[in-house]
Amino acid sequence: MAKTAIQQGPWSLRELYAGLEAPEIQKEIEALEAKVLAFEAHRSELTPELAPQAFSSMLKEYDGLLRLLSRLDGFADLSFSQDTQDAKIQAFRARVQQLVAETANRTLFFQLWWKGLEEAATARLMRTSGDFRYWLEALRLQKPYTLSEPEEKVVNLKDVNGSAALVTLYDSITNRYAFQVEVDGEKRKLNREELQVYFRDPRPEIRATAYQELYRVYAQDAPILSQLYQYRMRDWRSEHVRLRGFASPIAVRNLANNIPDDVIDTLLEVCRTNAPVFQRYFDLKARVVGAAPLRRYDIYAPVAGTEKTYPYAEAVELVLDSFQRFEPRVAALARKVFDENHIDSEIRNGKRSGAFCATVSPDYTPWLLQTYKGKPQDVATLAHELGHAVHSLLAADHSLLTQHAALPLAETASTFGEMILVDRLLELDPSPDVQRTLLFREMDDNYATILRQAYFAMFERQAADIIDSGGTEEDLSRAYLANLREQFGPAVEVSDDFRYEWIVVPHFQHAPFYVYAYTFGQLLVLSLYQQYRAEGEAFKPRYLQILSAGGSDSPERILQRAGIDMRSAAFWQGGFDVVKASLGKLEAIEAAR
Ligand SMILES: [Zn+2]
Repeated sequence: MAKTAIQQGPWSLRELYAGLEAPEIQKEIEALEAKVLAFEAHRSELTPELAPQAFSSMLKEYDGLLRLLSRLDGFADLSFSQDTQDAKIQAFRARVQQLVAETANRTLFFQLWWKGLEEAATARLMRTSGDFRYWLEALRLQKPYTLSEPEEKVVNLKDVNGSAALVTLYDSITNRYAFQVEVDGEKRKLNREELQVYFRDPRPEIRATAYQELYRVYAQDAPILSQLYQYRMRDWRSEHVRLRGFASPIAVRNLANNIPDDVIDTLLEVCRTNAPVFQRYFDLKARVVGAAPLRRYDIYAPVAGTEKTYPYAEAVELVLDSFQRFEPRVAALARKVFDENHIDSEIRNGKRSGAFCATVSPDYTPWLLQTYKGKPQDVATLAHELGHAVHSLLAADHSLLTQHAALPLAETASTFGEMILVDRLLELDPSPDVQRTLLFREMDDNYATILRQAYFAMFERQAADIIDSGGTEEDLSRAYLANLREQFGPAVEVSDDFRYEWIVVPHFQHAPFYVYAYTFGQLLVLSLYQQYRAEGEAFKPRYLQILSAGGSDSPERILQRAGIDMRSAAFWQGGFDVVKASLGKLEAIEAAR
């Protein structure tokens, strides 16, 4: 295996364009214009009698046009992530966003024609549509909820300065927040990310102070932030439920994920039933951190004193090695990210916070961004984002329209990658101390990804109704507190300041009802991982088959082929059984101390 010098640094975007001033950018914008014009010329050919061959070549043209657009868009987005403060990049990004919206509008007729076509014609054309088949099928799902072409255009156009603008406003307001905390007698001014580090501080009073400061700052704007959310949700309902005819606000997301409504109802219900599993975990945690009862401030309290740190190069080798032991093909794909210098991991001002893996199109190895600080959590994040990259690369044989896994399956490889890493770390150091550190971390993650998100989704469902019936910020906050208190039961003391958590969670504003996908994905992976532990080699082809499918079929059929029935409550319960087993192990380790 070729070794690359592994160093923390910025990524290279040269494969896309040499720079913001590169002449190719203007050339490609012109090429895009030509492609869009050529595509628009097909409009008159669109009849129910269209020949399959002509249809196939139109699909290929469409895919090609989108690849070009994605290159421009990807470059703009990645440049922005690399430096969010550069005015030139901001202007370029705005220009490309405009181009994306215009292109979507100008090519919209194609999707609308397809959605409105009679059944017999679609069936005939779908038979020969190859890899585009599922994309076409998924579009038809939207048919009952599609408006006329002029109406769709108005919605698209108004969204740019309407619901999308609301989201931008929310971000602009909240990204400016500065938080002040006093640590070790020193007053510090922090951004949100820096503040959140203190949620995991070993000192109880610092954890409390950090949360209180978070809510103090957000509470000052609570009326405005609450209004933004209410406008967003009213717009969501008036467009999707009133105009388009969806049965409920959450049904919009369910259809976009192609998951039947009742599957999500079952999933959330199973989570609600299993809330006591995590309450039991918090009881244990209360004893270990010496807090009785545990306060909401303490749920992410670190359990194992000072944490080990991992130099970047060591972390990369650890992750690649754990992937290698699982399956060499997986490791080889992950290594491409480093070989092609597609990762920006250094600590740098002005860089976008958080971590992500961006797939520009099937033509490129994805780009990864994280701010690597050497904590075990950072190593896990690296494994996570590399998992995404592997998923993307395994599905790179598909078209741009079918490469991306649907939301509920989108976290499969990332979470699985993290679990492989953790198992490897356990193997390298099987001492009870390491075991308990890792198991506590696993339980914290499981809580944050499964139960927390499920209760978020239950709140969103409820909030949509409260807003619809004219409820106020007060009503929403009261409902939110009740939601938390049900979730934590007697195990965790929830103070009143958490009533504002719902205005603090950006997902609610960015993408309503998005969050249950985390719950779905995590329980799914736990269940898959259990199968891997039980079956070893025999499991791998089924797993790789799920990943390679990308977004080329419905989640239900992709999982069915791997022997999974997502409609059954027992399947979801299986995920919780894995959580219970980890908790049992942890309780035994603690009892023996
Ligand atoms: Zn992810």
